[in-house]
Amino acid sequence: MEKLIKSWENLPLTKEELERRREKLERLFEEFLTTLGFDWKNDPNMVDTPRRVAKMFLEFTEGNFTPMPPVTVFDLSSMEVDEVVEKVPVFVGPIEIKSLCSHHFLPIIGNVYFEYIPEDKVLGLSKIPRIIKWLARRPIIQELFTKQVVKTFLDLLPTVKGIAIYVKAKHMCMTVRGVNESNAYMVTEAFYGLYEESEDLRANFLRKIKE
Ligand SMILES: [Zn+2]
Repeated sequence: MEKLIKSWENLPLTKEELERRREKLERLFEEFLTTLGFDWKNDPNMVDTPRRVAKMFLEFTEGNFTPMPPVTVFDLSSMEVDEVVEKVPVFVGPIEIKSLCSHHFLPIIGNVYFEYIPEDKVLGLSKIPRIIKWLARRPIIQELFTKQVVKTFLDLLPTVKGIAIYVKAKHMCMTVRGVNESNAYMVTEAFYGLYEESEDLRANFLRKIKE
Protein backbone atom coordinates (compact mmCIF):
# COMPACT_ATOMS: atom_id res chain seq x y z
CA MET A 1 0.00 0.00 0.00
CA GLU A 2 1.51 3.26 -1.05
CA LYS A 3 0.28 6.79 -0.90
CA LEU A 4 1.75 9.85 -2.51
CA ILE A 5 1.65 13.20 -0.84
CA LYS A 6 2.50 15.49 -3.66
CA SER A 7 3.27 19.00 -2.81
CA TRP A 8 4.07 21.83 -0.52
CA GLU A 9 2.23 25.13 -0.44
CA ASN A 10 4.66 27.10 -2.56
CA LEU A 11 3.97 26.87 -6.26
CA PRO A 12 6.76 26.26 -8.71
CA LEU A 13 7.72 29.40 -10.63
CA THR A 14 7.20 29.36 -14.37
CA LYS A 15 10.30 29.27 -16.59
CA GLU A 16 9.51 32.79 -17.76
CA GLU A 17 9.26 34.18 -14.23
CA LEU A 18 12.49 32.45 -13.24
CA GLU A 19 14.26 33.91 -16.26
CA ARG A 20 12.87 37.37 -15.47
CA ARG A 21 14.24 37.13 -11.92
CA ARG A 22 17.59 35.82 -13.11
CA GLU A 23 18.02 38.74 -15.49
CA LYS A 24 17.03 41.24 -12.83
CA LEU A 25 19.53 39.72 -10.38
CA GLU A 26 22.22 39.92 -13.04
CA ARG A 27 21.57 43.66 -13.58
CA LEU A 28 21.60 44.24 -9.83
CA PHE A 29 24.89 42.43 -9.37
CA GLU A 30 26.44 44.50 -12.18
CA GLU A 31 25.52 47.56 -10.16
CA PHE A 32 26.83 45.90 -7.00
CA LEU A 33 30.26 45.34 -8.62
CA THR A 34 30.33 48.87 -10.05
CA THR A 35 29.46 50.28 -6.62
CA LEU A 36 32.29 48.26 -5.09
CA GLY A 37 34.59 50.04 -7.54
CA PHE A 38 35.28 47.30 -10.08
CA ASP A 39 35.54 47.89 -13.80
CA TRP A 40 34.02 44.44 -14.32
CA LYS A 41 33.10 44.99 -18.00
CA ASN A 42 36.79 45.27 -18.90
CA ASP A 43 38.05 42.47 -16.69
CA PRO A 44 37.95 39.13 -18.57
CA ASN A 45 37.59 37.29 -15.27
CA MET A 46 34.66 39.39 -14.10
CA VAL A 47 32.73 40.14 -17.24
CA ASP A 48 30.46 37.09 -16.78
CA THR A 49 30.41 37.22 -13.00
CA PRO A 50 26.98 38.93 -12.69
CA ARG A 51 25.45 36.11 -14.76
CA ARG A 52 27.20 33.44 -12.67
CA VAL A 53 26.25 35.04 -9.36
CA ALA A 54 22.59 35.42 -10.36
CA LYS A 55 22.44 31.72 -11.26
CA MET A 56 24.24 30.74 -8.09
CA PHE A 57 21.83 32.57 -5.78
CA LEU A 58 18.86 31.02 -7.53
CA GLU A 59 20.47 27.64 -6.93
CA PHE A 60 21.11 28.42 -3.25
CA THR A 61 17.48 29.45 -2.72
CA GLU A 62 15.63 27.04 -5.00
CA GLY A 63 13.75 25.41 -2.12
CA ASN A 64 11.84 28.65 -1.86
CA PHE A 65 10.26 28.45 -5.30
CA THR A 66 10.09 24.72 -6.04
CA PRO A 67 7.56 22.33 -4.51
CA MET A 68 8.61 19.87 -1.84
CA PRO A 69 9.93 16.63 -3.39
CA PRO A 70 7.14 14.05 -3.67
CA VAL A 71 6.91 11.84 -0.61
CA THR A 72 6.12 8.15 -0.51
CA VAL A 73 4.39 6.96 2.64
CA PHE A 74 4.12 3.22 3.26
CA ASP A 75 1.37 1.86 5.45
CA LEU A 76 2.69 -0.66 7.96
CA SER A 77 -0.68 -1.56 9.42
CA SER A 78 -1.50 -3.61 6.31
CA MET A 79 1.57 -5.80 6.78
CA GLU A 80 1.24 -8.97 8.81
CA VAL A 81 3.93 -8.80 11.45
CA ASP A 82 3.61 -10.10 14.97
CA GLU A 83 4.06 -7.20 17.36
CA VAL A 84 7.04 -8.47 19.31
CA VAL A 85 8.82 -5.14 19.53
CA GLU A 86 7.15 -1.88 20.15
CA LYS A 87 9.67 0.68 18.94
CA VAL A 88 11.91 0.55 15.88
CA PRO A 89 13.76 3.85 15.51
CA VAL A 90 14.78 4.65 11.92
CA PHE A 91 18.07 6.58 11.74
CA VAL A 92 19.40 8.43 8.68
CA GLY A 93 22.63 10.39 8.51
CA PRO A 94 24.81 12.16 7.81
CA ILE A 95 22.72 14.16 5.37
CA GLU A 96 24.78 16.94 3.85
CA ILE A 97 23.23 20.38 3.72
CA LYS A 98 24.44 23.47 1.90
CA SER A 99 22.53 26.55 2.78
CA LEU A 100 22.79 30.29 3.30
CA CYS A 101 22.49 32.20 6.54
CA SER A 102 19.64 34.67 6.56
CA HIS A 103 21.79 37.27 8.31
CA HIS A 104 24.76 37.49 5.92
CA PHE A 105 23.84 35.40 2.88
CA LEU A 106 27.05 33.44 3.32
CA PRO A 107 27.15 29.64 3.05
CA ILE A 108 26.30 27.23 5.81
CA ILE A 109 27.70 23.74 5.28
CA GLY A 110 26.83 20.91 7.58
CA ASN A 111 25.38 17.54 8.39
CA VAL A 112 21.95 16.57 9.62
CA TYR A 113 21.16 13.37 11.52
CA PHE A 114 17.54 12.37 11.67
CA GLU A 115 15.66 9.62 13.45
CA TYR A 116 12.01 8.81 13.88
CA ILE A 117 9.93 6.12 15.51
CA PRO A 118 7.08 5.11 13.21
CA GLU A 119 3.63 4.20 14.39
CA ASP A 120 1.66 2.81 11.43
CA LYS A 121 3.37 4.65 8.58
CA VAL A 122 6.93 4.91 7.29
CA LEU A 123 8.53 7.17 4.72
CA GLY A 124 10.50 6.03 1.68
CA LEU A 125 14.07 6.17 2.99
CA SER A 126 15.61 8.38 0.29
CA LYS A 127 12.81 10.90 0.75
CA ILE A 128 14.15 11.93 4.14
CA PRO A 129 17.44 13.37 2.80
CA ARG A 130 15.61 14.87 -0.17
CA ILE A 131 13.19 16.79 2.03
CA ILE A 132 15.91 17.95 4.43
CA LYS A 133 18.10 19.16 1.55
CA TRP A 134 15.13 20.94 -0.01
CA LEU A 135 14.34 22.68 3.30
CA ALA A 136 17.98 23.83 3.46
CA ARG A 137 17.90 25.35 -0.03
CA ARG A 138 16.88 28.80 1.16
CA PRO A 139 18.27 31.33 3.62
CA ILE A 140 18.03 29.83 7.09
CA ILE A 141 18.59 30.41 10.77
CA GLN A 142 19.88 27.08 12.08
CA GLU A 143 17.71 27.11 15.19
CA LEU A 144 14.56 27.64 13.12
CA PHE A 145 15.66 25.20 10.43
CA THR A 146 15.98 22.49 13.10
CA LYS A 147 12.40 23.12 14.21
CA GLN A 148 11.21 23.36 10.62
CA VAL A 149 12.52 19.86 9.85
CA VAL A 150 10.61 18.43 12.84
CA LYS A 151 7.44 20.30 11.87
CA THR A 152 7.63 19.15 8.25
CA PHE A 153 7.98 15.47 9.17
CA LEU A 154 5.27 15.80 11.76
CA ASP A 155 2.93 17.13 9.07
CA LEU A 156 3.81 14.17 6.85
CA LEU A 157 3.47 11.59 9.63
CA PRO A 158 0.91 12.88 12.12
CA THR A 159 0.88 9.59 14.06
CA VAL A 160 4.67 9.35 14.47
CA LYS A 161 5.78 8.32 17.98
CA GLY A 162 8.93 10.39 18.06
CA ILE A 163 11.34 12.52 16.04
CA ALA A 164 14.96 13.38 16.83
CA ILE A 165 17.24 15.70 14.89
CA TYR A 166 20.85 16.84 15.27
CA VAL A 167 22.40 19.51 13.06
CA LYS A 168 26.11 20.31 13.01
CA ALA A 169 27.18 23.06 10.64
CA LYS A 170 29.88 25.57 9.84
CA HIS A 171 28.70 29.08 9.21
CA MET A 172 30.96 30.98 6.82
CA CYS A 173 29.85 34.27 8.36
CA MET A 174 31.66 33.15 11.51
CA THR A 175 34.61 31.29 9.96
CA VAL A 176 35.82 33.71 7.25
CA ARG A 177 34.94 37.07 8.75
CA GLY A 178 33.83 38.74 11.97
CA VAL A 179 35.04 36.60 14.85
CA ASN A 180 37.06 34.40 12.40
CA GLU A 181 36.59 31.10 14.20
CA SER A 182 37.48 28.59 11.48
CA ASN A 183 37.06 25.49 13.62
CA ALA A 184 33.83 26.31 15.41
CA TYR A 185 30.61 24.49 14.57
CA MET A 186 27.08 25.30 15.50
CA VAL A 187 25.18 22.32 16.88
CA THR A 188 21.44 22.24 17.36
CA GLU A 189 19.19 19.37 18.31
CA ALA A 190 15.49 18.86 18.86
CA PHE A 191 13.37 16.03 20.21
CA TYR A 192 9.70 15.34 19.80
CA GLY A 193 7.34 12.76 21.31
CA LEU A 194 8.89 9.72 23.01
CA TYR A 195 12.36 11.32 22.84
CA GLU A 196 11.18 14.11 25.10
CA GLU A 197 10.40 11.64 27.87
CA SER A 198 13.17 9.08 27.42
CA GLU A 199 16.80 9.82 28.12
CA ASP A 200 17.66 6.33 26.82
CA LEU A 201 16.14 7.06 23.42
CA ARG A 202 17.98 10.36 23.21
CA ALA A 203 21.29 8.76 24.22
CA ASN A 204 20.74 5.92 21.77
CA PHE A 205 20.18 8.44 18.97
CA LEU A 206 23.18 10.57 19.87
CA ARG A 207 25.45 7.47 20.08
CA LYS A 208 24.86 6.78 16.40
CA ILE A 209 26.30 10.17 15.49
CA LYS A 210 30.00 9.52 15.18
CA GLU A 211 31.75 12.79 14.62
ZN1 LIG B 1 25.39 34.78 9.30
